[in-house]
Amino acid sequence: MIATLLVGMLCVYLLSFTVMFQLISRRLQDEKMGMDVFALANLMLGCAYVLQLLEGPPGWSWNSLVNHTLTLCSLLAYCVGGARFFGHATPLGKPLLCLAVGYSLLQLLVNWAFGPVARYMLLAGTCSVTFISMVLMLLYGMRSFGKDLRGEMALFAGLISGICVLNLIKLSKLLGGGFEALNMDARFSMVFYVYMCSLATILPPSIVWLVLRRLTDRLRNMAAVDPLTQLLNRRGLITALDRLFHRPGRHARLLLVDVDHFKRINDTYGHQVGDAVLCGVADALRASVRKDDLVCRLGGEEFAVICVGADEKVALRVAERVRGSIEQKTMLHGMHYAGLRCTVTIGISDSFASEAGLGHAMQQADAALYRGKHTGRNRIEQSKTQRRVHTGFEQKIEFEQEIETETLQ
Ligand code: GH3
Ligand code: MG
Ligand code: MG
Repeated sequence: MIATLLVGMLCVYLLSFTVMFQLISRRLQDEKMGMDVFALANLMLGCAYVLQLLEGPPGWSWNSLVNHTLTLCSLLAYCVGGARFFGHATPLGKPLLCLAVGYSLLQLLVNWAFGPVARYMLLAGTCSVTFISMVLMLLYGMRSFGKDLRGEMALFAGLISGICVLNLIKLSKLLGGGFEALNMDARFSMVFYVYMCSLATILPPSIVWLVLRRLTDRLRNMAAVDPLTQLLNRRGLITALDRLFHRPGRHARLLLVDVDHFKRINDTYGHQVGDAVLCGVADALRASVRKDDLVCRLGGEEFAVICVGADEKVALRVAERVRGSIEQKTMLHGMHYAGLRCTVTIGISDSFASEAGLGHAMQQADAALYRGKHTGRNRIEQSKTQRRVHTGFEQKIEFEQEIETETLQ
């Protein structure tokens, strides 16, 4: 009686979460993160349990055949839903149809050849193998495609392992005692359905949580990253600096990088080419800085590099690397763009050691940049407190001398 009540509760859980998954999937519109498939999986499993309630004692019936097929198809749908959540465009319709037809025929064959108990054993065995595959996939995912959701995936793997063990026990009981193993009043059935109810209570909200996490992570990322160049934007920079200066004793220098005569590029080649050049500059910046440095697009054709822990010499060296690489970079290929040249002017601030110091560093670097623009462009200027003017040529010689000295040491 209690086990039958539990199956009834399972149906309610599964079918109500079908509605919720479907509603969420509708809100997601373009990228559904597998929610529509999870809704279908829940619907199929819910219907399978409804059929089980309507079914008489275990044995052969068309009702039970459909019940078993739906149960197995729901597992396939959960797997496809999971794959789609992680961005794999896994097909559903055809595999589901093939499984439904194939497994129904297999049930008929097994029932005809070995009797109804064997058909129930077939389901318990197939489910166990599917659950083992799911657990292995989750364990693999924790190390590869789902690193950011390790905790959640470990929880799923644990819960699915439990149901896998119960299915294996069911299989061995069927093997030993036939249909007695499926007696709804037996202790095993009670444990089985209590576990299933717990699973149905924990898993669907966890899937909703996963989607919520993905969405909030994506929103946070969108708010912190410039969509054109994929560099940090101003807000992202402030957050990153906040994290950087959280540890005491950290200091940094700001390099303000401005593309020279960028308006001309836009006017001559068009806005789209201008955008491509900005992406090229972003790539060159990424490639020129050190691992811990931060690169940001402040807006328009203005970029910022935070050289972490850099003294005057290191900041100059990074700035020269940036200036030189952009000067030499072929931004766009093709005859049409032969005259397309891109240089930058860079202003360097003094050292600063807090996120609040960024404003002052910005003023210093901006003033230096302004001087660079007025004294010919394609050059590096430092803040006045440590003023040294570097044209590209002088800087190159000094840079090479520094490298020579470093090599000799
Ligand atoms: P200077 O050497 O003095 O820095 O001159 P400049 O032409 O680079 O500077 P100016 O501020 O006069 O022009 C910047 C131009 O950048 C104007 C604006 O239309 C363009 N711009 C701003 N944002 C974007 C963008 O996202 N894409 C493209 N293609 N152009 C942009
Ligand atoms: Mg400019
Ligand atoms: Mg500018």
